[in-house]
Amino acid sequence: MLHAEGVSLEAIADTVGTPVYVYSRAHFENRYQMLLDAMAPLDVVICYAVKANSNLGVLRVFAELGAGFDIVSGGELQRVISIGAEPQSVVFSGVGKSVAEIDLALKLNIGCFNVESAAELDRIATRAELLARVAPISVRINPDVDADTHPYISTGLRENKFGVPVGQAIDLYRRAAANDALDVHGIDCHIGSQLTSVGPLAEACSHLIEIVDELKNSGIQIEHIDMGGGLGVSYSGEREIDLDEYGRRLNELIGERDIKLLLEPGRFLVANGGVLLTRVEYLKPESCAEHKNFAVVDAAMNDLLRPALYQAWHDVVPVTTPADTTAEQCWDIVGPVCESGDFLAHERTLALSEGDLLAVLSAGAYGMVQSSNYNTRGRPAEVLVDGSNFQIVRRRETTMDQLRLELNEG
Ligand SMILES: *Cc1c(COP(=O)(O)O)cnc(C)c1O
Repeated sequence: MLHAEGVSLEAIADTVGTPVYVYSRAHFENRYQMLLDAMAPLDVVICYAVKANSNLGVLRVFAELGAGFDIVSGGELQRVISIGAEPQSVVFSGVGKSVAEIDLALKLNIGCFNVESAAELDRIATRAELLARVAPISVRINPDVDADTHPYISTGLRENKFGVPVGQAIDLYRRAAANDALDVHGIDCHIGSQLTSVGPLAEACSHLIEIVDELKNSGIQIEHIDMGGGLGVSYSGEREIDLDEYGRRLNELIGERDIKLLLEPGRFLVANGGVLLTRVEYLKPESCAEHKNFAVVDAAMNDLLRPALYQAWHDVVPVTTPADTTAEQCWDIVGPVCESGDFLAHERTLALSEGDLLAVLSAGAYGMVQSSNYNTRGRPAEVLVDGSNFQIVRRRETTMDQLRLELNEG
């Protein structure tokens, strides 16, 4: 019988229903501490990337650990503020910050804008001047390194839309330094997600250090280097990124410089701290397609998009040990949504019966946050486990929750 910390997953499914996301506080805490330890003795601030899992209960865990936050929208900023986090601990990333988002961030006095273009720098300066504020900025450098990951989650190549080319960085910093509405704080990059080797990250860091040193020579002092997130995790037993090596390389590269390190991990902190529980609705052995066995479960692509979007692999395991494992067959685990792309897993060897409870593993990052109401399905509930207790940190969405926005109030 599978447990999350001291709580049986079956008990959660029985109480809250399925599909449901279940998260482990202890896992989040352990991962956070692991990362801190690996970076020592560097002065490091971990800014949790909110977009990986933005549930308020999850944000609270990281705020209590002393984390900062990396946000990519005004909505995420409001989430962070709503749990009482310190605005100074927030860095604001993203290529398309609107005037309204910039104004909100300026009024709340956030820690830093991670600027992605010359046009954005100008817009932030204009808004800051108008609001009589000084905007803290960092320039996101596109170091043109190959992060060797899925093309949809690679962000540090010249052809990606993110950041400013190395060759334009110095000019942009000069422009920022000359503007009274802007205050140069840092330099940043984020070269991609699910990175499994340190090489590209170290290469990116050395590009940033070169720029830092060149800026120092022209009288512009950089206070922090933000290496972004992207640390890869294990989805099916493959090796994770070598944290100790990453820490060692960053310590070597930054050396004696009086510079703070910021990191923006999302997936690394939460992916393996979450599962999606789902029940088998119907079995369709050797159905329409010859030699294809389908298990139709009550979770679908609208609940967990990663398999459909990135062909991502998630392990799927039974929550209770099946009575008869000789009945194992090869199953495609599919949802009720009307799309052939609606699958959670292909060709898994499992002994299944109708009503069985399954856990889709490693679903803590980019799971619930990418959910939708496609097919007018309500989003799943979310549960946070802490030791032998669990708490519903988001209730299941009802159809009425969805219809309310469309019903004519008059
Ligand atoms: C998505 C993102 C992150 C987090 O990425 P992970 O792969 O989840 O660690 C960090 N920084 C920026 C700018 C991002 O866009």
